[in-house]
Order: sequence, then C-alpha cells, then structure tokens
Amino acid sequence: MSESKEKLSSQAPALSVLFASENRSWCPVPWASCSTTTSGQYRLCVQANTDRLSRGLFSHDDSAPMMALDTPVSKARNGGLAKEVRLAMLNNLQHSACVRCRQDEDAGIVSRRALARLNYTSFSNKISFNKCVEKTTATGEIDHQDFPILDMDLRLGNRCNLKCRSCSPSESNAWYGEWYDTISKKFNSGSSVVHLTKDDMGRVSDSSQGLDWIGKSIFRTTFFEDCPELDRLAIVGGEPLLISEHFDILKDLVDSKRAQGIILEYNTNLTVLPQKVLDLWQHFKEVKIGYSIDGVWQVNDYIRSGAQFSKIARNLKTLQQAPGNFDIWVTFTLMAFNVLYVSETIQWVIESGLHKKVHPMNRFLVIHALRNPAELSAQVLPEKTKTLAKKKLKDFKEGWFETYVKEHLLDPNEADSWRQRLDIIIQMVSRHLEQEDGSHRLPQFRERVQTMDRYRGEDLRQALPELAQSLSF
Ligand code: SF4
Repeated sequence: MSESKEKLSSQAPALSVLFASENRSWCPVPWASCSTTTSGQYRLCVQANTDRLSRGLFSHDDSAPMMALDTPVSKARNGGLAKEVRLAMLNNLQHSACVRCRQDEDAGIVSRRALARLNYTSFSNKISFNKCVEKTTATGEIDHQDFPILDMDLRLGNRCNLKCRSCSPSESNAWYGEWYDTISKKFNSGSSVVHLTKDDMGRVSDSSQGLDWIGKSIFRTTFFEDCPELDRLAIVGGEPLLISEHFDILKDLVDSKRAQGIILEYNTNLTVLPQKVLDLWQHFKEVKIGYSIDGVWQVNDYIRSGAQFSKIARNLKTLQQAPGNFDIWVTFTLMAFNVLYVSETIQWVIESGLHKKVHPMNRFLVIHALRNPAELSAQVLPEKTKTLAKKKLKDFKEGWFETYVKEHLLDPNEADSWRQRLDIIIQMVSRHLEQEDGSHRLPQFRERVQTMDRYRGEDLRQALPELAQSLSF
C-alpha cells in the first residue's frame, strides 16, 4: 500500500476500553516489530513514516541511514529512534514520531497503536506493558532475546509492472521513463534523493543501490535466525509477487516447519499469480491478501496503467479455488478518477462471489482515501460532481443492492449486516468528500490528467465518460 493514503475506517472498538489503564502512549510496536521502507531503510513502523517523509526512519549515530542492506535486524532494534520512542512511551509521553496515531485517537478513529495493543496483548503472551517496563534499560535499549520480533513489515523495493496514475517511481520502477520525460530527473525515496539517467537506447534507470535491496542484503542472510518467533509477516512491493527473492524466504519458513505458525499479509495488484507462490502459501497458518483495484474494467485499467482487468479477474478465480487458508479482500484507493464508480465496483465484487471469503469488516471494499498527490484527491472535485457521487451511491443502495439482498440473503441478520457495511462505506465516502474543499486544485488536476493522457496515448473522455462530462472535459 502507498503510504500517502489514509484508511477510512469507522469500525472503532471502544478506544476507552483499550486505553483504560496504564499509560496512553505505550504501544508494543517498538518492542515487537520490525519494518523497512521500499529502499530497505529500517523504520519504526509504516504509521510513523506515513506520507513518505523522513519521520520515523532509523539512522546510525553518524546520521547515515540504517539500511537492511548492511545492518542485521538484531542491531537495528536498538537504533537511536527506537530507544528514544521506548523511553518516551514508558514515561507516558507522546513522541513526535507517533503523531499519526495520536491524531487518529483524538479523532476517535482506531489507531495502529490501538490495534497493536489489542492484537499483541490479546493473542500473544510474549509482550506486556509490565515486561516492557522491567526489561528496558534506562537508555531505552532492549535485549533481542527478551523481545523476539513477532511482527515484520517488509517493503521489498520498487519493482512493479504497473504505472498507476497516483503512484510515483519510489513505489514503482515502471514510472521511471514517464517521470524522467514529464516530471523530474530525480525523486525522493525515504530520506534519500534518487537520480534518474537515460541511456542511448532511451532506457531510464536509477542511481540507487537500495531500491533492489532484498537479494543482496545482510537482512536476507540473517533474517531466519534473527526472527525465530515471528507470528506475522507483511510483504509489500513494488509488486511482491514479481519479487522472486521473497519466495526464498517463504521456502525457508516452509522447509523449517515454521510456516504453520505464521500469518502472511500481502498487498498485491494480482496481475500475476505464480504457481510457485500458491504451492508455498498452502503451508502457512493464514494468508491475508488485500488486492488493489481502483474500479472495474476500463476504469481500473485507465487508472492502473499496465493492468488488464480480465487477467486480474482470472487470477482471482484461481486464488478462490487454491488450497490454503485465505482471507481475501479488495483494496480500493478513493480518488478523483473513481469516486463516481464506487457502486459499480461493489456490484462487481458481489457478483464475483468475493464477499464470501472475506471478514465482514472488509466486506465489499476496504477504502483508502488518496491524500497525495493532493491534486488527484477526490476532494478537488467541484460540488456538482461530489453531489453526483453521493447520489449514485444512494441510488445503488436503494436499487440494485436492496433487490440483491432481498433475493439472495434469506437470513435477516446477514442481510442487515450487508446493509450496515454498505452504509459505513457510503458514510466514509461522503465524509471524505465533505471534509475539505480542494477545488482550488482543479486546474492542477486538469493539467496532470492532460500530461499523462498525452504521454500514454489515453483519453479520460473515453475511459471515464461520466466523470469527463461532469467536469466538462
Ligand atoms: S504509536 Fe503508532 S506510530 Fe508509534 S510505534 Fe506505535 S503504531 Fe507506530
């Protein structure tokens, strides 16, 4: 998942219960988790590092970035920021790296910290607030043996086959040529600037040593022994199913019989689905797959350049029939391009049978609202288009959806649960649209669309006619 998106969530377990005792700033993550950026720099967690800023990143004492390329996990755990955050938490202080969690909690939204407290303390006896107090030194250091890594969030570089309109070269190397030709000869990745060069054949490549880091890293060779008690491994790319080195990690876990105790979690575009990974996945305790589509058919393929929706639908069918314990849901990034097409996407999800294997909390779609680049956010749209988006959802709810529920769901509780989930999605979309008037950015939106359409030989008027008409394109 791109970190410039904000999950729209309203399924708030009672925060007051989670934070009833102890101190409110404590979070298990700095004691139990490990995370990397796309370029392999260690960081506190994805939440601390949201929006691709330098916040939350680990550095050595001389301020050089702490990279998985040459630093094993066991050493990274006592990086300067980790020690600082632990001490702040034990003293009931809110560290600035944790601002996103604090903001979410202030707004009554379930924060990553709240989920971590719930998950770690309910399902694992390996970590508790009291243990953190007892076994953390006065400088914030921990012994790697006292606090084994339970949870890992790996970003495996920017190798990807898609060039989504809302993405950038730091997340996908498929963007290199277009970025070089239309935007800039460099881009930011974590705390580094990456330069692009074009060779005589017109091929654009990067100056970075880090974006393709996993295969040649110390992390890869030490991971297995450094993380003997892993419960959960989240794997993100680029596109993780194209990054074959990660299959070697999975194979090690299968061969050592550790796979059956581990939950895998993916964010994938599902344009590829190698048999090799299907063979490995069936050995894991559970495989959670959030797969990204930003609409159906030509809507998706226009936004996610390089994707073929028919192929994604085929892969989904294969996945639904594959042996193994899966939880599969659709991740939908809400933005200006697709806000008029939410209902069509939900209808496709229902008709494809995808809702059957999904946790009710993730039913139909898990929506993230795009914040960056700001000119592509749904909030830039004029009032007339926002009103149309809300009306389309209301008509869908009262029309096709209600008919489907009445005809197919005989259990009244199940029918109500579907209606409630759709209501939540409609509220999320409406709240996001009403939260901010970003229409002053509409000229930038137009300019960006025209530049991309020209370069790609595409046309918003043909791909998204309803949006084009509403915007008088
Ligand atoms: S409080 Fe939030 S930002 Fe801080 S470590 Fe925990 S999850 Fe990460």
